[in-house]
Amino acid sequence: AFRRGPAFSKLVLIVAASGGGLVAYADARTDPATEPSQAATKKKVVVLGTGWAGTTFVRNVDSSLYDVQVISPRNYFAFTPLLPSVTCGTVEPRSIVEPIRKIIRKKGGEIKFWEAECVKIDPDNKKVHCQTNIRTNLEGNGEFLVDYDYLVIAVGARVNTFNTPGVVQHCHFLKEVEDAQKIRKGVIDSFERAILPDLDEEERKRTLHFVIVGGGPTGVEFAAELHDFISEDLAKLYPTVCNLVKISVIEHGGHILTMFDKRIGKFAEEKFRRDGIELRTGYRVVKVSDNIITMKDKSHVESSVSYGMAVWSAGIGARPIILDFMKQIGQGSRRALATDEWLRVRECDGVYAIGDCATMSQRKVMEDILEIFKFADKDNSGTLTVKEINDALEDICIRYPQVELYLKSNQMSDIVDLIKASKGDVRKESVELDIEEFKNALAYVDSEVKNLPATAQVAAQQGNYLASCFNRMKHCEKKPEGPLRIRELGRHRFRPFRYKHLGQFAPLGGEQTAAQLPGDWISIGHSSQWLWYSVYASKQVSWRTRALVISDWTRRFIHGRDSSCI
Ligand code: FAD
Repeated sequence: AFRRGPAFSKLVLIVAASGGGLVAYADARTDPATEPSQAATKKKVVVLGTGWAGTTFVRNVDSSLYDVQVISPRNYFAFTPLLPSVTCGTVEPRSIVEPIRKIIRKKGGEIKFWEAECVKIDPDNKKVHCQTNIRTNLEGNGEFLVDYDYLVIAVGARVNTFNTPGVVQHCHFLKEVEDAQKIRKGVIDSFERAILPDLDEEERKRTLHFVIVGGGPTGVEFAAELHDFISEDLAKLYPTVCNLVKISVIEHGGHILTMFDKRIGKFAEEKFRRDGIELRTGYRVVKVSDNIITMKDKSHVESSVSYGMAVWSAGIGARPIILDFMKQIGQGSRRALATDEWLRVRECDGVYAIGDCATMSQRKVMEDILEIFKFADKDNSGTLTVKEINDALEDICIRYPQVELYLKSNQMSDIVDLIKASKGDVRKESVELDIEEFKNALAYVDSEVKNLPATAQVAAQQGNYLASCFNRMKHCEKKPEGPLRIRELGRHRFRPFRYKHLGQFAPLGGEQTAAQLPGDWISIGHSSQWLWYSVYASKQVSWRTRALVISDWTRRFIHGRDSSCI
């Protein structure tokens, strides 16, 4: 059903002289400067997504070495950490977005961009199926195919509703710029509605009850922004109804901001209580109707609240295209695409996944270890005792010191404990395991291994790392720089990806921010707010957005936030 669009119809097929007989395509029409012979040697890199991961990759990859094509339904990059500020007009939406074509132009314009959505990945034929919504430019249904030698999947994640009935129909989300704009309009509309004549007090109260589902960083930051917006700006404009406003945060866990140090969570909870923000921790939302939210506590006791506006920020899940791709490649039971430490999608030649759509699995390491255990099973009995496993692990570390990179001694005992736990018996001193059982145990260990957080910081570092690998591909072929591989296979071409945590912020409103910096250094208060301003201004992708964001902050200080309902 898919066909090549006009942009691809003139592709000239050139058989690559090198690269193991691989076929490369060069678009001689759209890039006349490229000599066919030069283009033929360039491998095609297709990047899906223009978020943190995709854009950082594109900004850093050497586009003179590859024929890079970027595909995304969004022709801009959005600075998501400032999305909560957009919901209340602290920052304008256009101040936090940068057109992807501007970013490409800065790189000499060699990179091509197609505004379309990838709807299917075909790893066997190394093609992606795309669909554009801009039908007027294309005949037919807007579908086309793009070939790749290397595919970088960076499509991010979508909001996870956990199949809770009514969420999609009645809740706002906070994931995209459009979502933030809708929330801003929704908040102002709620005030305009609550102030209308002939409304009874109960209805006014219901209309001004703002419920946030999810006490993670996004939900908490939005609650704080909303509180500031109402107390600093809307209270002056709607004085007759401002005392009816209520903000509630519903969180399934026992506390909010659980991914931060406990001191930050405690400070945030106390501040919210002082600000009059209601915290309902230990509640799981089970149903949302047009004006009632039903929830259950830990003892499954049901209760409900009426609300005027609800924002759902309870977590993220895989996009349909990723779910479909995972099924194709035998990862159907996972929540995100598993990659190894080189960010390669397992068992998929030339496919990489970075950012929120991926999870760096240590299963590959585990599989390497399994290989060693098989090797250790000298009598081929197919069984190993825990003692043998322990001995084998020690052996591995002596014979292959590089494995210590993965297996610190405490991890070794953790693994054995997990193996025992997976057999449902943690007391026995010695447990017989056959290889099949061991495989199951590895899957169990794998699910226990902590994944990297889904943050812009991880996504950007992965994009940067992958671009640097691509830039040094040839050099590292000759001079590999990674750790030695088990079983004398030589060295890995690149060093594995290592995440460097640079700290995280949780803005709590009232010009106060909590900062958790490396080395577990905690700072909460007004000084951290200034650190937050400086870091977020410096992290902007261009001087244009930096200037716009700073001027928005200044405007807000001087004139307050704009409450027009446009
Ligand atoms: P995204 O940035 O989501 O980008 C995905 C890209 O893929 C988009 O361009 C999208 O249009 C495109 N795409 C989607 N489907 C397809 C398809 N089928 N084909 C092609 N392209 C597709 N992180 C922090 O570190 N600090 C923060 O303060 C912070 N605050 C946040 C606040 C909010 C409100 C939100 C929503 C997130 C926040 N995050 C923060 C998390 C951070 O935004 C994500 O971790 C980050 O965006 C992940 O980057 P990504 O490139 O994987 O995905």
